[in-house]
Amino acid sequence: MDHAHSATNTADSPTGDPSDAPSDTPARPRTPGARVAARRDLAVRAAVARGLVDDGARPVAALLDVATVRESAAALRTAFAAVAADGQDVLHTFAVKAAALVPVLRLLSDCGVGAEVASPGELALARAAGVSPAHTVLDSPAKTGAELAEALALGIALNADNPEELRRLDALRPSPGARLGLRVNPQLGAGAIDAMSTATATSKFGVALRDEGARDWVVRAYRDRPWLTRLHCHVGSQGMPLEAMAAGVRATYELAEEINTAVGHRRIDTLDIGGGLPVDFTSDETSPTFDTYARLLARTVPGLFSGRYALVTEFGRSLLARAGTVLARVEYAKSAGGRPVAVTHAGAQVAVRTVFAPEAWPLRVRAYDGRGRPKDAPPVRQDVAGPCCFAGDLVARDRELPLLAAGDHVGLLDTGAYYFSNPFGYNSLPRPGVYGFTCGDGEATGGAEGADGVRFLSVREPQTLDDIVAESGGGRPDALLD
Ligand SMILES: *Cc1c(COP(=O)(O)O)cnc(C)c1O
Repeated sequence: MDHAHSATNTADSPTGDPSDAPSDTPARPRTPGARVAARRDLAVRAAVARGLVDDGARPVAALLDVATVRESAAALRTAFAAVAADGQDVLHTFAVKAAALVPVLRLLSDCGVGAEVASPGELALARAAGVSPAHTVLDSPAKTGAELAEALALGIALNADNPEELRRLDALRPSPGARLGLRVNPQLGAGAIDAMSTATATSKFGVALRDEGARDWVVRAYRDRPWLTRLHCHVGSQGMPLEAMAAGVRATYELAEEINTAVGHRRIDTLDIGGGLPVDFTSDETSPTFDTYARLLARTVPGLFSGRYALVTEFGRSLLARAGTVLARVEYAKSAGGRPVAVTHAGAQVAVRTVFAPEAWPLRVRAYDGRGRPKDAPPVRQDVAGPCCFAGDLVARDRELPLLAAGDHVGLLDTGAYYFSNPFGYNSLPRPGVYGFTCGDGEATGGAEGADGVRFLSVREPQTLDDIVAESGGGRPDALLD
């Protein structure tokens, strides 16, 4: 069985708390994770009832729990506020690549979280969401001259990646008020997933600090440039041990102190510590929490919270993963080589990392019946396949789950970041609709809210066949004929 995920229908079903509810009403789930899970099940059932997934043109949809997004943003802010100095300026930004959807960026902005962008497209999305330049940070290893000039003109903070980029900035003659930094790589080594490890000796990101002469070069770079006032690191994403992340932040802090001493005044006034908090894809409960990480930082790098530096964070996955579910119909159930295979409509097009790197990116799959109710049947080992035409298009292999049948549904859990918002174009499969949802208290308040209290808010309409034809050169069928 892959990655030892127990069947989610038994292990993670919400638990009732008899102590805080009268016996004749449903008990309020006990833990934060159980509350998220209970809302998810409610939304799945409502989504099926209202045809957000159907047996026609909408076999797959993505659901996003607005309350979970708000809760994780609040948890992040509270965690850092608890360890920050009085009045210390802490800007939290969201790594837009994790969920590149304008209404999501707007929601986060409403929760006091800005945007970390890494391409002209992501910057355009952040601007469309109304994220202010003061709350936007541009990081990318491949910024063009035009991007640099635009960022300076807009007054967006940016972190240069390498010496050549710094020379390009020199030519643009930034004003001392520009919020410009340099990304460094403390070269701490890899985490559990190579492709996510940005602090290896040969990583493509930032100035490799332990290379010969690099540290001195960095100090000189700051001495020569009065407008260089920030220092940035992001030492890895999923798979990086927390201690290694904190060590990376500590190395960055120590370098800032060294630079400020060498320059003779507090030239660096802002430290951008990146994102990278890992998500536990095996459980509904969040671990590690933002709180755990903030406290670890406070112990490992006390100076970070002395108030002498403004701080920037750039979390992506840990802010959004928990909030998202991919919901797909099971089209067929079959058997091959003695193993049951459920052929669903969620595969590589919405779960690219899980399909192509299943060891690194296992997902929990939850089984729902034809009406979107959790299936409660003895677990059976089976494969859960997607619709794409290649053999590896599986989101779970040899997984114990209630036996899936045609017309059932599957939920891919914790897929709010880097899944449906990062679709993979294959077999001309349409990008699924994305629907935010809120769960009322059972009292219908009008609008789109149903009797179940669930209200859906369209974030992205499903792509239509006309859309697919149009983006595939449909407007110029004769283009290659002469
Ligand atoms: C991807 C990325 C992030 C966010 O990483 P998560 O693991 O999603 O938190 C932050 N900063 C930079 C520079 C990144 O490339």
